[in-house]
Amino acid sequence: MGTDSCNIEVTVGSNDPDLVRRSAKPEGTIVNINGVKIGGEAIVVMAGPCAVESEEQLAETARLVAASGASLLRGGAFKPRTSPYSFQGLGVQGLEMLARASKATGLSVVSEVMDTRQVETVARYVDILQIGSRNMQNFPLLKEAGISNMPILLKRGMMATLDEYLNAAEYILSHGNPNIILCERGIRTFETSTRYTLDLNAIPMLKQRTHLPVIVDPSHGTGIRSLVPTMAKASIAAGADGLLIEVHYHPEEALCDASQSLFPEDFDILMKDLEKVAEAIGRRIHKL
Ligand code: PEP
Ligand code: MN
Repeated sequence: MGTDSCNIEVTVGSNDPDLVRRSAKPEGTIVNINGVKIGGEAIVVMAGPCAVESEEQLAETARLVAASGASLLRGGAFKPRTSPYSFQGLGVQGLEMLARASKATGLSVVSEVMDTRQVETVARYVDILQIGSRNMQNFPLLKEAGISNMPILLKRGMMATLDEYLNAAEYILSHGNPNIILCERGIRTFETSTRYTLDLNAIPMLKQRTHLPVIVDPSHGTGIRSLVPTMAKASIAAGADGLLIEVHYHPEEALCDASQSLFPEDFDILMKDLEKVAEAIGRRIHKL
């Protein structure tokens, strides 16, 4: 509850669903991934390729992002592609590569699950199940995520309002799983010069309305490599608890989302800049 400049009372989120609303857990939720706490004082950076493409691509990219200070490795083994003829991911082989890269680097792993039938399999190999933008309202999948005991990274639907987003998270919570990380990843607007419009408003708004941690994906939010570092820094300044960033050891050869994937050198510079932004707002970047 707050008061605006005209002295009219404004109540943010008073109609939000019971379990997800801020007042259900005023101290905030911290999702603990093998000791990496998401939603606490430290900002957690997850990085890696859009898709797992090969043993070498993943191992080398994982090594580089770990060296720059990422705490988690991302990489899709099951990819939601617009065209059925595009690379669909390596499936279980990709999950095996993620598990090996995790072991080699010490990074925990996040990877997407697109279907209820994949939940059990993906859960055997990764530390966080990602539910993608296109599946934010896949209600059977949300229920399955709710009964699994895996941490869930729930991305915002590209056409979803924050009400719809919070209700999607409520599905998972109400089926028994409190370990949810929200991720703003850009929404569809009339603007076409960027892939999506990263909704920075969503960060402070979600932080006011829910106790769940909120991270940001500036890679999909812009679709343009040169914009990613700026929007990553802006997200942290706006109060995000972490970032999900696409990095590829040779972006020009990436099979998926090449134009938004950072070069490892750019990611390294970004990590150093993020430390300064974090410090300016009284936080720090989590380091393993
Ligand atoms: C991804 O993280 O690679 C991805 C497909 O994200 P989104 O669901 O936000 O499009
Ligand atoms: Mn991607």
